[in-house]
Amino acid sequence: MRACGVCPFCGLLCSGISFGSLPDLPRQSVADQADCERASRGWWLSQPNSSWHLKPLRHGRVVAADVAIGETAQQIADSRRTLFCGLGTDVAGMRKIIDYAQAVGGILDHLYSDALQTNLSLMQHAGWVATTLSEIRFRADVIVLVGDSLLDRFPRLLDLLTDRGEPKSKNAPKLFWLGTDDLQFRMQAMLLPHVQPISLKKSDWFAALTSLLLQADSPQTGDLDSAVAHWGGSESFISLTRSLLSAHYTAWIWSAADFLSDGDDLILDLLARLVAKRNETSRAAVLPLSGSNGDTTAQQVCTWKTGFPLRQAIRQHSSDYQPHRFRATDVLKQGDCDAAIYVSSFEPIEPPEEFWGVSGVKIVVGHPALKCATRADYFFPSGIPGVDHESHLFRGDGVTIISADRKRDSLAPPVAEWFGQLLKQHRNAAFSQSYPQV
Ligand code: SF4
Repeated sequence: MRACGVCPFCGLLCSGISFGSLPDLPRQSVADQADCERASRGWWLSQPNSSWHLKPLRHGRVVAADVAIGETAQQIADSRRTLFCGLGTDVAGMRKIIDYAQAVGGILDHLYSDALQTNLSLMQHAGWVATTLSEIRFRADVIVLVGDSLLDRFPRLLDLLTDRGEPKSKNAPKLFWLGTDDLQFRMQAMLLPHVQPISLKKSDWFAALTSLLLQADSPQTGDLDSAVAHWGGSESFISLTRSLLSAHYTAWIWSAADFLSDGDDLILDLLARLVAKRNETSRAAVLPLSGSNGDTTAQQVCTWKTGFPLRQAIRQHSSDYQPHRFRATDVLKQGDCDAAIYVSSFEPIEPPEEFWGVSGVKIVVGHPALKCATRADYFFPSGIPGVDHESHLFRGDGVTIISADRKRDSLAPPVAEWFGQLLKQHRNAAFSQSYPQV
């Protein structure tokens, strides 16, 4: 027996993926039609075994669901400020989390918000011309991947953009991949015959991209090779320079997770400026990809329901958006919350160690294989979005919602159901709270 449908394990949300459904299937044979290591891993981790926790737990012991809900709702109501973190869930789960957070008051932040915030800061401060996967697939004639880990995070990206990464005609786009001088990147790029790799020390990227910006501003008519040679430009970089000058539509794709070090924001800023400059005479756009563990979904739902992105404190309909203050790890380190709820339903990703330092109740909602289930004060097992129940998820380009059908009979309730019950209990019990200022 096999299951087929949308794969929920990264932001590409590929459709038509075939999954094996037997728990003892060898890892290499699951998701084989996807030819995707990440899908295979996610599906493998979705197969139940005897160590899974499929019932609610209180201090590591099984407890009735209604008892766990009642006690949890009471303790959250007694807390002054709750941190809602992790937030690895689907649209329905995120909607219920926000409803509950508005009722009890709390701070919202996703596990991968650092990358989300990098992109958001760039858009807020410099602006950008962004595009979608579909437009790149049908219109771009030059595609530049930027960053070493892009194809690890989104393994089938080239397949989606270029029909399995192989040029079918002379109109196929030119593909470049700008990465560091790391050996793993160079070996990975060597295996892609249709991609021209550009391997540069990260410290040279700024000079290299600046030279592209200067070329776009006033193209050299003389010897281009010598024009870029002074910072060590490679043959493939010269090829990129020439291709950009003649391109009708250039797309630059990155994952912000590759740009979390000091100064990396300047590189992304240069890319945005390069695209703006090219749009004076042709067409160009950026595509900052995200979507791991539901990060895009959490950001989009938070924005549409509250008017502000993640890293905000909310109570009722009042929001305090402070991205530099409400980073979850900092909130935990500084003791700026006295209760915390961690959510991770796609894969068993454990919470950061700081989570356990919270003074009050610590609650985990998520994947039944989470090892921290027995360490939490309360644990609520959840189904896996797009595996145990139908889910709506935002694709990594942030503009498309995809429906992912369930692939089997559900093993645990969705995240949305647990937070719906907590909210109902909170309203029914009409807990009194002393509210901190938002
Ligand atoms: S690229 Fe992502 S969505 Fe596509 S099959 Fe692989 S893990 Fe699943």
